[in-house]
Amino acid sequence: MTDSDLPRQPLTFALWREVQDTRIRTRLGGIYYLLAWLLTWLFSAQPGAMRLSGLGVAAFFALTMTLRWLHRPPQQSSSACLQQWLDRHWYLIHLTALGWGLAHAWALSAPQFEASRLIATLSTIAFSTAMAFNFSMRKARCMAAILLLYLPGLAVLLTQRHEQQALLITLAFYLSYLLLALNRSHREYRATLELEQQLLDQRERYDQLSRTDSLTQLGNRLQLNSLFPALVASVQRQGGHLSLVLLDIDFFKRINDEYGHGIGDECLSAFAERMRVVFRRHSDALLRLGGEEFGVLMMDTPLEQARALAEAFRQDLAEHGLTIRERTLPLTASLGVGSYDAQRDGSAEAFFKRVDDALYRAKSAGRDRLVLAAQTAAPPIG
Ligand code: GH3
Ligand code: MG
Ligand code: MG
Repeated sequence: MTDSDLPRQPLTFALWREVQDTRIRTRLGGIYYLLAWLLTWLFSAQPGAMRLSGLGVAAFFALTMTLRWLHRPPQQSSSACLQQWLDRHWYLIHLTALGWGLAHAWALSAPQFEASRLIATLSTIAFSTAMAFNFSMRKARCMAAILLLYLPGLAVLLTQRHEQQALLITLAFYLSYLLLALNRSHREYRATLELEQQLLDQRERYDQLSRTDSLTQLGNRLQLNSLFPALVASVQRQGGHLSLVLLDIDFFKRINDEYGHGIGDECLSAFAERMRVVFRRHSDALLRLGGEEFGVLMMDTPLEQARALAEAFRQDLAEHGLTIRERTLPLTASLGVGSYDAQRDGSAEAFFKRVDDALYRAKSAGRDRLVLAAQTAAPPIG
């Protein structure tokens, strides 16, 4: 998955990251419960005498291990899907923890485990430590898992408190340490997550800035270079209409010469503002291609519709000019307009050139006009 595929919405991103982390950390964990049980059972006094129950517990841990392994994160990254995966996975984690807690309690209470009891207790400490440090993304759920691992054993030790006082106290102390460590580990996890999110946001902001023209706040040529081939590829694949309007202000050099570069800049901003008013559909991409040249990429817009909007823009500009610092400057523009034509345009570049040629003809024919790019005639209907 690339950065651009990551969920953008902060809550969804946090859930997505949590799912990835949970998946990575849970993948290996399951096998250790099975191994710890096999050691506890096989090093007990008479493993053969407990063949059925020993195998039954081993089968339980093998099953939870397999379920944890098979439970893959969802392909869709909607928050509902991610949350559902987490809920189900935590159910598996809790089930494994409870299974181990009960196995430990059994090893502590049944005399035949005398020789391997230490293995079970050490494993309980190891599992709950791993839990506190690896699964601290959800504090309450992690705490519940630690308690499921720990409490059955502690309950048995409590019934044997006269002989097992030292072990009981040590385990209880260690449990309190684990709960404190979980708290800290949870805070660190959340802080790292927030930092990662800030970095991604910042990268997106820089990316956006690099594609935005600083004077007019329209998309720049870099934006055109990334968007245009993708839109052309989309109409080539799926059909539909993609129109392109190219606009070039007439005799703009004179504005600079007559009123100064500052007013020239304000003219360019006002021109962009006027574009925003006319080409206002959300899917229209408004661009400053350089100097006093602009473009509009219009998805799902047939040629006639694009022509009508572009002509309305031209007429309005010719009639009203641009008002800068309460002064009206007469200004006109020449426009080339075309729609992607599968028979004429082999590539995005060919399409752009066809419309650019139309703009050039508008200039040569005297400016302040719109010229349509040559188009293959549509077949007659019926
Ligand atoms: P034509 O009708 O043939 O397009 O004439 P024109 O004067 O508009 O075109 P030309 O390409 O000869 O000159 C474009 C002018 O645009 C020259 C340049 O000073 C001005 N220009 C380009 N970028 C900017 C800018 O960012 N700010 C200002 N103020 N002027 C700019
Ligand atoms: Mg010009
Ligand atoms: Mg020009």
